Amino acid sequence: RRAFYIGRFQPFHLGHYSTICAIAKEVDELVIGIGSAQKSHDPWNPFTAGERVMMIRHALEDADVKHYAIPIEDLQRNAVWVSHIISMSPPFDVVYSNNPLVIQLFREANMNVRQPPMFNRKGYSGTEVRKKMIEGEDWRQLVPAAVAEVIDEIGGVTRIRNVSMQDM
Ligand code: ATP
Ligand code: MG
Repeated sequence: RRAFYIGRFQPFHLGHYSTICAIAKEVDELVIGIGSAQKSHDPWNPFTAGERVMMIRHALEDADVKHYAIPIEDLQRNAVWVSHIISMSPPFDVVYSNNPLVIQLFREANMNVRQPPMFNRKGYSGTEVRKKMIEGEDWRQLVPAAVAEVIDEIGGVTRIRNVSMQDM
């Protein structure tokens, strides 16, 4: 059984990690769609698709699931979005998501959709991690240690601060 899970992963945090560990118990393989793949270097999407692939690869190094991280660019056409995903992804039998639009679109396409558990949704959120990076607070406790290493390697905190500033 192969499953599909999509997020923007800006950045990949412990909520994503915990969700994937829960999904891994139910499936053999997992396709991880990296949404808004074309975006980077903005305050809401600081990291490139390739950097997000690295975060996921390192974070899941010791996890008990074989995964494929597939970058997926946005399509400004929700009605054909599921076909767009299918055209870019290894085949999958089941979709895991808590996003209402994602659930609606896959159900309309007659795909099997399951809702994974949430883990500390208030603390573990991409928005919260980015805010803490910009404000100089402790963001490291919200991401897997391997993700913090990738962010350090690419100078991620300096980048998000710089792209969040107004010009002078
Ligand atoms: P952002 O705040 O940037 O939107 P996010 O934390 O919502 O980031 P996404 O990349 O948008 O992360 O989310 C991918 C998927 O992960 C979403 O469908 C979301 O429901 C799920 N998710 C996010 N945080 C958690 C969490 N703490 N526990 C379980 N699932 C989560
Ligand atoms: Mg989100």
